[in-house]
Amino acid sequence: PFEVLVIGGGPAGAAAAIYAARKGIRTGIAAERFGGQVMDTLSIENFISVKETEGPKLVRAMEEHVREYGVDIMNLQRASRLVPASKKGGLHSVEFESGGKLSAKTVIMATGARWREMNVPGEQEYRTRGVAYCPHCDGPLFKGKRVAVIGGGNSGVEAAIDLAGIVASVTLLEFDTKLRADEVLQAKLNSLPNVTVIKNALTTEVKGDGSKVTALVYQDRATEELHELELEGIFVQIGLLPNSEWLKDTVALSDRGEIEINAQCATNIPGIFACGDVTNVPYKQIIIAMGEGAKASLSAFDHIIRTS
Ligand code: FAD
Repeated sequence: PFEVLVIGGGPAGAAAAIYAARKGIRTGIAAERFGGQVMDTLSIENFISVKETEGPKLVRAMEEHVREYGVDIMNLQRASRLVPASKKGGLHSVEFESGGKLSAKTVIMATGARWREMNVPGEQEYRTRGVAYCPHCDGPLFKGKRVAVIGGGNSGVEAAIDLAGIVASVTLLEFDTKLRADEVLQAKLNSLPNVTVIKNALTTEVKGDGSKVTALVYQDRATEELHELELEGIFVQIGLLPNSEWLKDTVALSDRGEIEINAQCATNIPGIFACGDVTNVPYKQIIIAMGEGAKASLSAFDHIIRTS
C-alpha cells in the first residue's frame, strides 16, 4: 500500500505528490489525464515568476518534477469509487474503472473541475481562439476588444464587472428573464457605462473566420428572432462542475458538489484530504491549486506520523 495516494494529476495533484515524496514516504499518483485543465490552456501569464508559458509546456515541467522523486505515476486511470478505512488507522482504498484497486494510509483527492459548456456550433472550434472560460486568466488578452459574457449568475456578473475595466465593451447574455446574481453585484454592473445586459437570450452559435471568433448569434426567446453580435471574445460563465461524482455518499460535498475541506485540506473522513478545483476553496487558479496541493500533502504527512 501507499502512504500517500493522490487521485488527479493536475497542478494540485502534482504539488501534493512532490511534497509527499520529498518526505521519503511511498507516494502514488493516479490520474485520468496527467496535467488536467492545464493541458487545455494555451497561454498562461499569471503563474508567478514565469511571465508567459503554455499549458502543455507547464505540464511537461510538472511531470518531470514529479518523476524526479520516484513517484509511482499511473496515468489514464479513472477512479470510480473511494472506500474509506473501516476502522481507525486502517487502509483506505480507491477502485478504478479499469478494474484495478489501490490502497493507502492517506488519500488526497485532486480531481479538479470542468467548465460547463454552451454546446452550440462553433464553441469547440473556437475554444482558446475567442471562446474563453476564465476571466482572471484570459481577460487581459481581450484588452480594448468587444466581448460577451454568457450567464447572469454571480460568476457571470463578476466576470462582466471585471472585464468591463479591461475591454472596450461587454454584453452580458442571460437565458432567464432576470439575472440571478446578488443585488449588490447587479447594482455595480448597472453602473458601468460599457456594459449592456440582454435577458431572455439563448445563445445558438459562435461564428468565426476560421482562425478566430467574429460574432455570436442568439435568439430572443420572446420573439424567437435571431440576432448577431459582432465581437472578438466570449466568456462562458454557466458553471464550473467539480469532478466529484465518484465521491457521492462518501466524503461530504457542498450543494454545488465541491468537496468540503477545512484549512488543513482535511475532509470529514480522517486520513482523506482534498485540494484544488474539486474543493470548496474559492478562486480556481493554477497557483492556488498548487498551494492547496502542498497543504493537503503536509496535512497527510502530519496525519501519518500521528497515527502510525
Ligand atoms: P485539474 O487541472 O482539473 O486536474 C484534475 C486532474 O484529475 C486531472 O489529471 C484529471 O484527469 C484528473 N481526474 C478527474 N477525475 C478523475 C477521476 N475520477 N479519476 C482519476 N483522475 C481524475 N488558471 C490559471 O491560474 N491561469 C490560467 O491562465 C488559466 N487558464 C485556464 C484556461 C482554461 C481553458 C481552463 C479550462 C482553465 C484555466 N485555468 C487557469 C484554471 C486552472 O487550469 C485550474 O484552476 C487548475 O488546473 C486546477 O488544478 P487541479 O489540479 O485542481 O485540477
